[in-house]
Amino acid sequence: MSSTWEEKVHKVTPYTPGEQPKALDVIKLNTNENPYPPAPAVKRAIADFDYELLRKYPDPTASGLIGVLSDTYSVPADQIFVGVGSDDVLAMSFLTFFTSGEGILFPDVTYSFYDVWAGEFRIPYETVPLKEDMSLDIDAFCRGTAGGIVIPNPNAPTGLDAGTGALEKIIKSNPQCVVIIDEAYVDFGAESVLPLIDKYDNLLVTQTFSKSRAMAGSRLGFAFGSKKLIKYLNDVKYSFNSYTIDALTQKVGIASLSDPDYFKMRCLAIINERERSKKRFRELGFDFPDSRSNFIFVHHNKVSGEELFKALRDNNIFVRHFEGERVQDFNRVTIGTPEEMDGLFDFLKKYLENK
Ligand code: PMP
Repeated sequence: MSSTWEEKVHKVTPYTPGEQPKALDVIKLNTNENPYPPAPAVKRAIADFDYELLRKYPDPTASGLIGVLSDTYSVPADQIFVGVGSDDVLAMSFLTFFTSGEGILFPDVTYSFYDVWAGEFRIPYETVPLKEDMSLDIDAFCRGTAGGIVIPNPNAPTGLDAGTGALEKIIKSNPQCVVIIDEAYVDFGAESVLPLIDKYDNLLVTQTFSKSRAMAGSRLGFAFGSKKLIKYLNDVKYSFNSYTIDALTQKVGIASLSDPDYFKMRCLAIINERERSKKRFRELGFDFPDSRSNFIFVHHNKVSGEELFKALRDNNIFVRHFEGERVQDFNRVTIGTPEEMDGLFDFLKKYLENK
């Protein structure tokens, strides 16, 4: 019997993105989006965009955007990589740097795309259990034998910040592999390891426009690293698709970076609302790791994670619930506007009264 085409298919278990409900009258706290609009300069850039530009391919090097990132973060342009969201940057990085066949390491409770990319690219991996309090087990990452390491800081979905000292210890103990620190949420109060790229040529720091810059819809992510790392990453990118960032996205990215005051103001509003939300969750009997991101990972003794998730959803409040032994009793709640959070807490107060 000859084999079928289907036997030859590369079969993978895909990542499940958070739900994007069609209805507009919902409180949407499930995908860590920013509840505020992008910078006003972004609106102007879209209005002024010359649609005829779409006739041509975009600048494959995104040099304008990289130039402004270079000025904003004081990093030379040849140490910056851009991609279609940090998902694209991370996927390219897995493909470029994690090829040795040795297992890569990431936490057992973390961004649920890492094991998907590992599966997709057939990269062996080992998960390192978080400690009982959900903090990172730093020493367990310092063995110096891994084929690669990827850690989000703050971690998702816990929101915990490991601190740059602890992360440097991990980077320093693993010169044999690339260490990726995924800083998707770093602008909400954690310290970036970016200054360490000058000290460690195996460190890649990834960030995104999706959260703190309110541009998840534009799909724009970036990474900082040594010249050598960025060159290798670009070589792989150009072997896939030269034109990853379209012309309009390059423009709106530049516009977003042009207004640092707006950026800081919105980040601060989210941080303040997060701290206010922590108080209110605590008053209602929830416990949670002490988040430094734009979400809180909450647990309540009186109601299971799934039950609460469904009750909220039935009332048009969307949060994120994950399967898995260590996380199923929790829900990840993105920080919304004060009005959205009031809506959430009004519901929770009533709901918990009957429990
Ligand atoms: N890293 C982490 C930890 C995330 O939670 C996300 C968002 N889902 C990403 C990276 C990717 O975000 P984006 O592709 O929108 O930049």
